[in-house]
Formats: sequence, C-alpha cells, structure tokens
Amino acid sequence: MAGSPLVVIAGPPGSGKGTQCARLGEQLGFSHVSTGDALRDEIERGTRMGRHVRAWVNSGRLVPDRVAVEVVLDRLDTQPEAPAALLDGFPRTVAQGEALEHLRPGAVELAIALVVPRATLVRRLALRNRDDDHSRALGCRLAAFEQETRPMLAWFAARGLLVEVDGDQPDAASAALVARLMAGICAASEA
Ligand code: ADP
Repeated sequence: MAGSPLVVIAGPPGSGKGTQCARLGEQLGFSHVSTGDALRDEIERGTRMGRHVRAWVNSGRLVPDRVAVEVVLDRLDTQPEAPAALLDGFPRTVAQGEALEHLRPGAVELAIALVVPRATLVRRLALRNRDDDHSRALGCRLAAFEQETRPMLAWFAARGLLVEVDGDQPDAASAALVARLMAGICAASEA
C-alpha cells in the first residue's frame, strides 16, 4: 500500500498509542504499523537490523533516523490494502518527519498527539514488563519524547496537521479523525 494516506499517532511512552491504534484500526479498517513492534520483532528474530538496534531499544534511546525510516517503509510496503495506515510511533523526530514528507509527499492527513498527565504515564508503565520498562530506560524514553518528539509535533502543527486529544478518553482519537475526514469530504464536495 505504497500510496495510501497516513495518520500519525504520537504521544509519550505509556500514552496508549498501541491501544488507540488497535481500536482505530478495528473501527475504521485502517492498517497499523508500529515502529516499536517492528523493531522488537527484528530483535527477537535476531536479524541484522535487530542486532544493530538492540542496545538502543533496550536502553530507551531512539534508534538512528535512517533505521526508523527503513523499518517503517518496509512494513508499509507489505501491508494489505486499506483506506489508510496508522503510523504508531513514527515519525519521532523532525528529521524523520522531513524524510517521510520527502518520500511520501502530502501523504500525512493528520497527526494525533495523545495527551496524558505524567503521573498517569509512570503508573501505567510500572504495570508493564517490557525489556525497556526499567527505570533508567524509562527516563530516557520520556526525555527523548520531550527533546526530539515535541519539536516534531510543532513541525506538524505549523503545517496545520496536528490535533491534540485526551489520551484518557478512549474515543477521542477516533472522534478527531472522523471530524477531519468529514471536513476533507465537505471541502472536496464544495470544490
Ligand atoms: P514507547 O513509545 O512506549 O517508548 P514504542 O514501542 O513505540 O514504545 O518504542 C520503543 C522503542 O523503540 C523506543 O524507545 C525506541 O528505542 C524505538 N523506536 C520506536 N519508534 C522509533 C522511531 N520512530 N525512531 C527511533 N526509535 C524508535
């Protein structure tokens, strides 16, 4: 599904990106590509890329932009046909956003940022048991969100593509997405 529209789902660790994407995918029939899942899959399978990224992922640092772009495009290209694809956790830096815009110009229809209070994030993450959920990696992932991903959200906001939704409301993301799709349909029918 090389040319399909893309919807970016962004948010700090523990904000529920995966859960929201699974829900949206089911409700709207969109496909779902998670860079974190794709990277963990590469690590588990012991591929060349997996061996390359293991230390970054387990310590909570972002993998190099080039690798994140490669893994997401690879997964996108092998998705079954769907009206749109949800990008869970990509882009996470301005450089990744620029690379995506260069490779798929105009493909991003909307970027949804899940907003969740920090205390809730920490509480949720304490209940999980992933290799990168220990406290040092967690601090690193929260810091990466503030330092690298917030500027990327500003980059989407400057292009009029960002909506922020309450990550504690299960249907807020789908409501935002449906509102944007309706606005697009109305604009097209007026043209
Ligand atoms: P979370 O958002 O809860 O940290 P993810 O599963 O989305 O969890 O990501 C886990 C890890 O995978 C990140 O800490 C990082 O090491 C790596 N990763 C995922 N997406 C990206 C990306 N777009 N760019 C760089 N690294 C990424």
